[in-house]
Amino acid sequence: MTDFGYTLSRSSTVNLDEADRSLWLRLEKLEPDLRLCMACGSCSASCTAAELGGMSLRKVILDLDRGRDPAPIVSACMLCGKCSMVCPRGINTRHLILSLCRIYEKK
Ligand code: SF4
Ligand code: SF4
Repeated sequence: MTDFGYTLSRSSTVNLDEADRSLWLRLEKLEPDLRLCMACGSCSASCTAAELGGMSLRKVILDLDRGRDPAPIVSACMLCGKCSMVCPRGINTRHLILSLCRIYEKK
């Protein structure tokens, strides 16, 4: 194979018509405030488990919305509640993560 000195990245386009958003819909029933998230990233910036555990609530919510399972990221959360204090939309993010964990337990 010829080496052109570069590679092509796979498209990151998400087809929302085909994405399995069942997890997002289940969480939305338990936590209607999920709809208020504007993906600002304040929760991720203040997260205790971000650097060492790779936790990012913003990414978790976006993954759920796009039909991806964020379970490996969620498992790093320490439920400290710092993200709840900084969310500009007043979402009880700690409770939201707890509800997501309960969904995983029932799976
Ligand atoms: S701080 Fe609140 S609004 Fe911002 S990304 Fe996190 S959950 Fe969403
Ligand atoms: S509750 Fe979880 S997501 Fe929120 S700041 Fe603490 S470790 Fe991060």
